[in-house]
Amino acid sequence: MDYNKILIRYGELTLKGENKKDFIRQLHNNLSWYIEKSEIKTEYDRAFVDYSQKNLDCLKYIFGISSYSPVYETETSLINIENIVKEIISKKQFDSFAINARRHNKNFSMTSSELNMYFGGIVLKQMPDKQVKLKNPDLTIYIEIRDQRSFVFCDYFDGLGGMPVLSSGKCIHLISGGIDSPVAANLLQKRGLKIVFLNFITPPQTDEKTIAKIDEIVNILKKYQGNAMLYQINYSKVMEYIGLISNQKYKITLMRRSFYRIANLIAKKENIKAISNGENLAQVASQTLESIYTISEVCDLPIFRPLISFDKNETIAIAKKINTLDVSIVRACETCELFAPKNPVTKPNRQEAYKLEEEELPLIKEFENECIENAIIKKYSI
Ligand code: ATP
Ligand code: MG
Repeated sequence: MDYNKILIRYGELTLKGENKKDFIRQLHNNLSWYIEKSEIKTEYDRAFVDYSQKNLDCLKYIFGISSYSPVYETETSLINIENIVKEIISKKQFDSFAINARRHNKNFSMTSSELNMYFGGIVLKQMPDKQVKLKNPDLTIYIEIRDQRSFVFCDYFDGLGGMPVLSSGKCIHLISGGIDSPVAANLLQKRGLKIVFLNFITPPQTDEKTIAKIDEIVNILKKYQGNAMLYQINYSKVMEYIGLISNQKYKITLMRRSFYRIANLIAKKENIKAISNGENLAQVASQTLESIYTISEVCDLPIFRPLISFDKNETIAIAKKINTLDVSIVRACETCELFAPKNPVTKPNRQEAYKLEEEELPLIKEFENECIENAIIKKYSI
């Protein structure tokens, strides 16, 4: 006998009514990125998928799951459960144990504590040298008595929590090869957003290595959302154009305003209602409130900055966990770094930025539209 199902517990259990139905429908769909539809069953308060190592492994990429357990599912009968318990103790190494039984089916002949006593007795009869220990035992055998079917299991694995991807819609995310923006994307996926990636390159300064890095990062992040789309924009012409301005300190500010105008246009085209990035407040000189204020002006969509309050080491810890750190730290030429003036303005103001655009860059919007028309759209599937 072996595990036959994986029991999946939902996150955010406070959800009610329609929301909950949508949540479950979305989670069902997201499970099917990896698992055959015929192997998935979602119920009001939990889901089941057929047991296999492959199915178990993929759950670590699916948001909206609070925990999961490989389980032995059996018809509700004392003798069936007893056989499973005996099987488990014959396979596991342990000195101390506990039985944790729950009777959901109130018509079942024994109460939860009677079940604990009963199965504790069975284990001790088979293996008299073992000890009952209620706190931190080596082995806990969980028994759930339901109506027709019951479940026996030993392990709880933590799920990712959060909300199923797409349950909150979509978002255009500015992705670079740095450490921050991949982490920010993953945090937004956690809140149920599917990410459409947007990346600016400036060949010939950025090269194949820069592109390979972005590919690798998107390939990691797509695992959390089933597939992914990337708009890769050749930004060289606009960047050169901005480089002509008289007040060189404003180059980065104007470049970022331009990034967000482009993001805003792509969002509209894709019917997407938010833009996001990996910005943080005060971590680098350019990320000041004045800078955020001056840049935000150019778009009318909300901009999400999930890392706004993070310390760098908090971001790095997540980058390690999701495996983007090793890719991010590989050296490759990045658009922003190449373009940065010696003394960029740290507290830009809107009037000055606007004035420079109006007076010195009359063609900028035309060039931006051209960039969008020529964007390379890449699709990544699992
Ligand atoms: P990151 O590690 O994400 O690059 P950072 O701390 O290096 O962030 P910046 O380089 O100032 O900060 O970039 C701030 C944000 O601007 C990034 O998090 C990203 O969202 C966006 N960004 C920067 N460069 C690019 C690019 N070439 N293409 C798309 N977005 C970019
Ligand atoms: Mg960067």
